[in-house]
Amino acid sequence: MTGKVRTRIAPSPTGFLHLGTARTALYSWAYARHHGGEFVLRIEDTDVARSTQDSTDQILASMHWLGLDYDEGPIYQMQRLERYREVIAQMLAAGTAYHCYCTPAELEEMREAQRARGEKTLYDRRWRPEPGKVLPPVPEGVPPVVRFCNPPEGDVTWNDLVKGEITINNREIDDLIILRPDGVPTYNFAVVVDDWDMNITHVFRGDEHINNTPWQINIFRALGAPLPQFGHVPVILGDDGQKLSKRRGAVSVTAYEDNGYLPEAMLNYLARLGWSHGDDELFTSAQMVSWFDGSHLSKSPAQWDAAKLAWVNAQYIKAKADAQLAPLVAAQLKKRGIEADDRLVAICALFKDRCETTVALADWAAAFYADVSPSEADRAQHLSDAVKPAIATLADKLATLSTWDKAAIAAAIKETLAAHSLKMPALAMPVRVLVMGTPQTPSVDAVLAIFSKEKVIERLKEA
Ligand code: GLU
Repeated sequence: MTGKVRTRIAPSPTGFLHLGTARTALYSWAYARHHGGEFVLRIEDTDVARSTQDSTDQILASMHWLGLDYDEGPIYQMQRLERYREVIAQMLAAGTAYHCYCTPAELEEMREAQRARGEKTLYDRRWRPEPGKVLPPVPEGVPPVVRFCNPPEGDVTWNDLVKGEITINNREIDDLIILRPDGVPTYNFAVVVDDWDMNITHVFRGDEHINNTPWQINIFRALGAPLPQFGHVPVILGDDGQKLSKRRGAVSVTAYEDNGYLPEAMLNYLARLGWSHGDDELFTSAQMVSWFDGSHLSKSPAQWDAAKLAWVNAQYIKAKADAQLAPLVAAQLKKRGIEADDRLVAICALFKDRCETTVALADWAAAFYADVSPSEADRAQHLSDAVKPAIATLADKLATLSTWDKAAIAAAIKETLAAHSLKMPALAMPVRVLVMGTPQTPSVDAVLAIFSKEKVIERLKEA
């Protein structure tokens, strides 16, 4: 390969960073990194009515959270209007673009007539200058749009990095609007000027854009600009086989951050959704970069699998150092109004194996910082009158301990069991219910050791 690889992600700030866009960003990023190239972030904010600063902020935050660092950007299209107008002026002068004065009503009438004739609804090029053609008189008070002179005939063919060879005939597409009356360019035009100016060599994007690509290729050619290579990544389908959408559950990266997923797990899961490296399921982003050469991208849609993502996240939680996990859990607790302390590291160590998310870890941790309320069913099942004297003995024994640690607590439990001729579960279960609020916990001595002695005794007294 000659020249430096340059890729980009170009989200529109009309909402949060969608999982599909995050995956495309990951592929673009990994491809650039694999080739020692550069990755650009561009914010496509020309849909002025729907773009918001809040969405831009969320997108930037999600990119940062995922660790997808970019070498240039964010570049905002709305700050490049002059450049687009300059290119439009050049195209008008060169005859590769023209003004069109059709009103929306006229266009609708045109489409109606086409529909009535059973034809595809395409702009009929009535304002396109052609040798020997007399254009309609310029109406007053109608601000014109600028349209691109798309070649009327012939095929547009490209070798898609993901899908292989794709051909679309120019008869399928019309002279698209490239500049709106308000002077703001449309997507298909701005994207080309940007990819050209930013020397983008490889464009990865969702396959919903396949039908836009012939226009873009034609505009590149009209501008005499070098063509990037295109790779159209298939959509992500929801569990139900429909396109993943808001109505079918969380689709924003932010939601997964909020719900206790780790960015490294998200990246790993997203990477595998549409790309593979043998049977590898768990890998670091550095490994992905070393493997990601644009091959092994799937041509068919990937299916979102919430259970698989949860499994991947659980593996990363298990493997993560407790001291690194603790601040993430502290942040989750903070949302519940709970201030954690340095016991949280030990709590993470003890509970992380049974948690798929940091939210689940926070659920466990909450028992150490807030009141617990055992269910009536658990109390009834585990807290018989027969065991209550043993619990009182245990509370007394614990009260006398001068060292508060797992070994000392274990010894006190053992003595209590002997004194009351009980087996471990008969005592451990009610103790768990009283102290943690639930009978399913890690070993009871380890759990109690994280509480203060006073708190344990206080809860045991609620027997
Ligand atoms: N703003 C477009 C989108 O979010 C970018 C498409 C492209 O990458 O060309 O879908």
